[in-house]
Amino acid sequence: MMESATRSARNILTGLHEVMASKNHAQGKLNHVVNIIGEALTSEVCSIYLLRDGALELFATRGLNEAAVHVTRLGLGEGLVGTIAENVETLNLDEAAAHPNFRYVPETGEERFHSFAGVPIVRSERAVGVLAVQHVEPRKYEEVEIEALQTVAMVLSELIANADLIDDPEVGSGIETGTIVLTGLPLVKGAAAGVAIFHQPNVRIEHTVAEDIEAERQRVYSAFDKMREQIDRMASQIDFGTGGEHEEVIATYKMFAYDEGWSRRINEAIDSGLTAEAAIERVQQRTRMRMRQIDDPLLADRMHDLEDLSNRLLRIVSGQMSTAAQLGLKKDSILIARNLGPAELLEYDKRRLRGVILEEGSLTAHVVIVARAMGIPVLGRVRGIRHKVRDGEMILLNADEKSVIVRPSASTEESFQHQLVDRQKKKARYAAMRDDPAVTKDGLPITLMINAGLRDDMSALATTGAEGVGLFRTEFQFLISATLPQRERQQRFYRDVLDAAGDKPVIFRTLDIGGDKALPYLKDETSEEENPALGWRALRLSLDHAGLMKTQARALIEASAGRTLNVMFPMVSEPWEFDAAKAIFEGQIEFLGKLKKQLPSKVRYGAMLEVPALAETLDVLLPKIQFLSIGTNDLTQFLFAADRADPRLAERYDWLSPAILRFIKRVVDATEGYGVDVAVCGEMGGRSLEALALIGLGIRRLSITPAAVGPVKAMIRSAEHAGIQAKMTELLASPPQNLRSALSVWATAQGIETG
Ligand code: PEP
Ligand code: MG
Repeated sequence: MMESATRSARNILTGLHEVMASKNHAQGKLNHVVNIIGEALTSEVCSIYLLRDGALELFATRGLNEAAVHVTRLGLGEGLVGTIAENVETLNLDEAAAHPNFRYVPETGEERFHSFAGVPIVRSERAVGVLAVQHVEPRKYEEVEIEALQTVAMVLSELIANADLIDDPEVGSGIETGTIVLTGLPLVKGAAAGVAIFHQPNVRIEHTVAEDIEAERQRVYSAFDKMREQIDRMASQIDFGTGGEHEEVIATYKMFAYDEGWSRRINEAIDSGLTAEAAIERVQQRTRMRMRQIDDPLLADRMHDLEDLSNRLLRIVSGQMSTAAQLGLKKDSILIARNLGPAELLEYDKRRLRGVILEEGSLTAHVVIVARAMGIPVLGRVRGIRHKVRDGEMILLNADEKSVIVRPSASTEESFQHQLVDRQKKKARYAAMRDDPAVTKDGLPITLMINAGLRDDMSALATTGAEGVGLFRTEFQFLISATLPQRERQQRFYRDVLDAAGDKPVIFRTLDIGGDKALPYLKDETSEEENPALGWRALRLSLDHAGLMKTQARALIEASAGRTLNVMFPMVSEPWEFDAAKAIFEGQIEFLGKLKKQLPSKVRYGAMLEVPALAETLDVLLPKIQFLSIGTNDLTQFLFAADRADPRLAERYDWLSPAILRFIKRVVDATEGYGVDVAVCGEMGGRSLEALALIGLGIRRLSITPAAVGPVKAMIRSAEHAGIQAKMTELLASPPQNLRSALSVWATAQGIETG
């Protein structure tokens, strides 16, 4: 075994401790450090790059050409060193030149070296430098070696900040001053204006090397006690809604807070000679790295719970208690963070927190579930926002439009504020229309339902006045929980959903997982797909996993005891798939009947039409089903062969294109005479102009996002059915080049409210 692997982190730390305590000037200390590390890891090269004037400058090296020191400079993102700094991520490569970002720097004389490992030196969550080692032989550095490098990087961060060697990350150098527009992924819809506030006024780790290990241990113990107390208090003080997913989210979070493994790992890090703060950070870094390697979006979501807790513990132990939440929001604020845990969000004053912008984030993240319950808009995946905004600058967030305007001009801000007022007015108008029927001016009723996936969503039935849930995406419960929900848990969940719906119907769609919505417990079988959207997903997977489907069927049947069960199958491509899925349900009904369990009073079956092939066999399918729901999200991607998740294609194909509209019209015509309810449940139906077109094609039922119910109802109540039907016939017979604009002009002339 290599000396580096056996040499303890403690020994390196002791060496560093001496360097830090020495009277050497900073440059001398850095030179000393590269030697200690190079020796400890038996690396031919050890180098330190620091961020100065916006570039990474080689500050010290053992093994590279001395003449390159203070000469070699790499931009952020340039070469391996620049990549590490830009992504704040460790690289460990046995063949450096094989990495796509490798850049050969001639003056360093590094051509002899094959393997390369580098870790970022982090200050205030940004990389202020890079510590790198290189080796002549191609080999991967071992985990203990990488961990040693990370520990050293932490100590270096302390050293260089004290010595004033680097750009101060707090100063926000390089941030522009003009208006910029950034885009992201809407996680919770809505719009808001406010001043930027950074979630994490960074906990500065002042000392990394422990003087007294026992004292450090005691500090961590008491911090743990305090943290658990805080969390228990917070959980008991939640003041919005009961009986929703946010409660489960908080329960999971509490479980992490009491995790013994976590406190043990921190203790071990203290044993190696780190201070309490450094040990917490060390363990967190390691977890982060492991999670990245696993590359599982669900685990990544859980990761944010851990980050949240770790930051909390760090703040307590360091006495730097001030997140923006604890300092108190002074005015309307837009919170900016890389990511947030659910409890971190809960700490903010709801009256002043207007919106959240995250650099990461996903629809199933716990923080998003809590934000939804709190009614706060969230835009996720806004790349690099933390480096493009300063604290206190004005931000206009429009999650509906996927955009953020930073430092708007006075006139932009003014018009945005007007839009917000307009939105409020419209909202009030829609709320007042809640109990009005969705009927056209010439008396045609349209059934408006909502799409849902969480118990928290069910309150929208009351607030919108929608007639039921036309699409309940059951996979959501699976996606947000860490383990496969067992039958009892599923059943309880479905029953709660039905209870929340009262007399209104709920159409449960069976699991639509697989492909890009892979679950960790089914992952092995689903991970290697080239075209996940076309892959082994939804009903295809469920039919192969009959156990999973049987369990869900039983849970749904039991939950619907004495009531109507509406069940719908996703991605039906051929009628036999519907037969097979229905047979599983019928089998469960028979089984439960034999057990003398109370059964649903009625079971209605439906299919989603998302795969174009199904349209060719509707005559076979229609006699078997009670309802058909057109899923325009998937249908569009299959019809145009255009990935719905690819942002480059997002705007290319229009829902108001003759191909889609004619296709839907053909389906509607084909259903004539079968007594089958036909609905559209894709996003298309939630856009007023699109909904108008659909009604013109003969669609009478729409299941849409709750926020769209008001606008779509207003559109329906201002339209005449006969007119739109004639207009659509005309437009489809000889489509104009821009059907959208032709329809829009016509609708405006008719006085139809299309948004
Ligand atoms: C659809 O594909 O249109 C649909 C409603 O299902 P999902 O968006 O859940 O795939
Ligand atoms: Mg779909």
